[in-house]
Amino acid sequence: LGHVYKDVKQGRHYKILVNPFGGQGHAQKIWQNTAEPLFKASGSTYDLTLTTHRYHAKEIAKELDIRKYDAVCSISGDGVLHEVINGFMERPDAILAHKLPLGAIPGGSGNALSFSLLGEDHGNHASNAVLAILKGRAMPVDLCSVTQGQTRTFSFVLQSFGLIADVDLGSEHLRWMGGARFTMAALGKVLAQTTAGCELAYLPVETDVQKIHAQYNAQRAQPVVWADQTHDEMDEDHKEITDVYGGIHASLKDSDGWVIEKDQYATVVGAKLPWISKGSVTHPAALPNDGLVDLLIFPGDMGRAAGLQALIASETGEHIHNEKVRYLKVKAFRVTPAASSGYISLDGEHTPYEPYQVEAHRGLISVLSV
Ligand code: ADP
Ligand code: MG
Repeated sequence: LGHVYKDVKQGRHYKILVNPFGGQGHAQKIWQNTAEPLFKASGSTYDLTLTTHRYHAKEIAKELDIRKYDAVCSISGDGVLHEVINGFMERPDAILAHKLPLGAIPGGSGNALSFSLLGEDHGNHASNAVLAILKGRAMPVDLCSVTQGQTRTFSFVLQSFGLIADVDLGSEHLRWMGGARFTMAALGKVLAQTTAGCELAYLPVETDVQKIHAQYNAQRAQPVVWADQTHDEMDEDHKEITDVYGGIHASLKDSDGWVIEKDQYATVVGAKLPWISKGSVTHPAALPNDGLVDLLIFPGDMGRAAGLQALIASETGEHIHNEKVRYLKVKAFRVTPAASSGYISLDGEHTPYEPYQVEAHRGLISVLSV
């Protein structure tokens, strides 16, 4: 078996968070049967916490002795890492804490990060995810700040409004289905032709899908610029992370180039990762560190046939060529819901149904990748 561990990074110490509640509730088994034997055999050390409640991972991240660890890994969906990121953000040494790389071992229903790193065929395989962590280097990844009311939350996967938020948050009762709950719920919403009204404002960088594709291919042909650092190389900076476009309470300045529209939409979704779950490549041109958010817009008047076509095409990312679908690269966007209640999801977690603004911050976090 020696060759399996050939490129394993030696001497690493991991913080591992297992969420027994994630997905279909298999995370603990995945740890015992698959992940733990690999961590042990690789000679790595770790300490483990089973999360016992919502925000537990956030509390741990807030207090974590970051110099003791080389990475924080979760066995769950994306929600646990979302909490870790937001826990780091509340520390006085937030920027430093964010230099600690993250690792995702799939054990939830979402698993956007592991699919986006490992691809459709391997994204659900815990053993592949563990090996990628053990051999992985820190790849810098952008983080989105989301301002809403008086709060600022950080999001590393997606910010969704309309259908995709409804599917994400309104299908909790189907948790036993695993990832299939998203497909089932999406089908129902498309057939019911549910829409959500809002004012949508965005700062476009590229709106031509062909050009976005070409830029994506060019970028992917470049070698990764890794961000690994030893603890000694981490400098103690305590810089503020400032939103260039001022957050939700700033007025939308014409000089910045905001485009503003008001309509009914099937869904409006910003994302930093291509996959949102198994079989859903909703943002196929998302790049980990281009400093931009990929914005996907399905209009309200799409119709059942085009809606179903787009849903099926999203298994491979082809839906962005559907003539009714818009796919843009933006610097920031703002959604102001027209109704008073509904769902807004940040990385699969609930957030109030209130206006929010999203802005990408380049390379603020890193994930372990091979
Ligand atoms: P999934 O992909 O299945 O949604 P997540 O990793 O997103 O999995 O986690 C879902 C939620 O579970 C998160 O909001 C997290 O805070 C919460 N959570 C963590 N530990 C527990 C627990 N022991 N009981 C209930 N909820 C928990
Ligand atoms: Mg989740």
